[in-house]
Amino acid sequence: MIVGVLGGGQLGRMLALAGYPLGLQFRFLDPAPDAPAGQLAELMVGAYDNAALLEQFVCGVDVVTYEFENVPVATVQMLGRHVPIYPPPKALEVAQDRLTEKQFFQGLGIPTPPFAPVDTFIDLTAAIAVIGLPAVLKTRRFGYDGKGQVIVRTAEDVAEAWAKLGGAGLIVEGFIPFERELSILAVRSRSGATVFYPLVENSHRDGILRRSIAPALGLQHSLQEQAETYSASILCELDYVGVLAVEFFETGGTLIANEMAPRVHNSGHWSIEGAVTSQFENHLRAVLDLPLGSPAVEGYAAMVNLIGTAPEPAMVLALPDAHLHLYGKEPRPNRKLGHITLCAADRPTLDARLAQLQSSLPS
Ligand code: AMP
Repeated sequence: MIVGVLGGGQLGRMLALAGYPLGLQFRFLDPAPDAPAGQLAELMVGAYDNAALLEQFVCGVDVVTYEFENVPVATVQMLGRHVPIYPPPKALEVAQDRLTEKQFFQGLGIPTPPFAPVDTFIDLTAAIAVIGLPAVLKTRRFGYDGKGQVIVRTAEDVAEAWAKLGGAGLIVEGFIPFERELSILAVRSRSGATVFYPLVENSHRDGILRRSIAPALGLQHSLQEQAETYSASILCELDYVGVLAVEFFETGGTLIANEMAPRVHNSGHWSIEGAVTSQFENHLRAVLDLPLGSPAVEGYAAMVNLIGTAPEPAMVLALPDAHLHLYGKEPRPNRKLGHITLCAADRPTLDARLAQLQSSLPS
């Protein structure tokens, strides 16, 4: 079986690492000649809308998936006429536009921050008059890792936020004073079987995910149930196949949806060592219509991203139950170069190991 993957970043690389024990082969397509998955598998280099390249890419593959969210929807639709491709194009279409995504959540009865579309400065001031301050102004498309968004705290910030982002299609959202950020990974296979990983707690800095802890501290059954109900309705509405990540803000025991990603997700990397079946293996099982594996967490796990610089491997590997993943990327500021997963039987031990790791990593 050959799995074609659009995008050859670290997510693709970890998909290949999970798929080799299952006897799978991989072919990647990415515009970057040094895409990390190319160190492990066949890599075709070129644009996602290069028709001649796409024809070669799809030739002989059994199924196609993607690990990058900004693949053109038209490419996924076109490939879908030749070979099964999952997740479905509609999921990509929804996730690529923050406004469509929030309207989609709203249509399913999933709570979101108050929001409004913004195309002009007048739209922005009118929306803020209703939503109130603070608010967050975001580009509808191509925002990631906190890029393409500005917090508007006071009336004086409005013009500045507009000067920064005005011009592109925008959305303004009420700022949620959340207690913490949580995310869930849901998986649905071609035959409709579904599993849910436990909610994990995520910490961001400068809009970039720094750390995930699984399961979230003091995770109540009711919170997990809310997350499963919301993500199940998304899976069902989209006739979804593969791993879906949904990010939430937790406030007062309830969940407010922020965004979804129709792919394997950084907040699920802990599952490689911390769960019975990793998100990468379950994504492959789902798109190949194999039985899904258990998403149960074995004890506790924490994932720490290595951003901009990577530590000496020996320092990390000297820590008990620490697992190092390097993606084979050249160091660059704000670039995700790898991650470390720490596992422990109980939460106090995990916290002690995290503290030990954090004190030895560059801040
Ligand atoms: P996003 O790219 O939409 O996931 O936003 C990146 C980060 O900005 C989130 O993980 C939050 O920490 C913060 N953020 C985004 N939207 C809001 C909001 N409406 N209220 C509060 N914080 C937000």
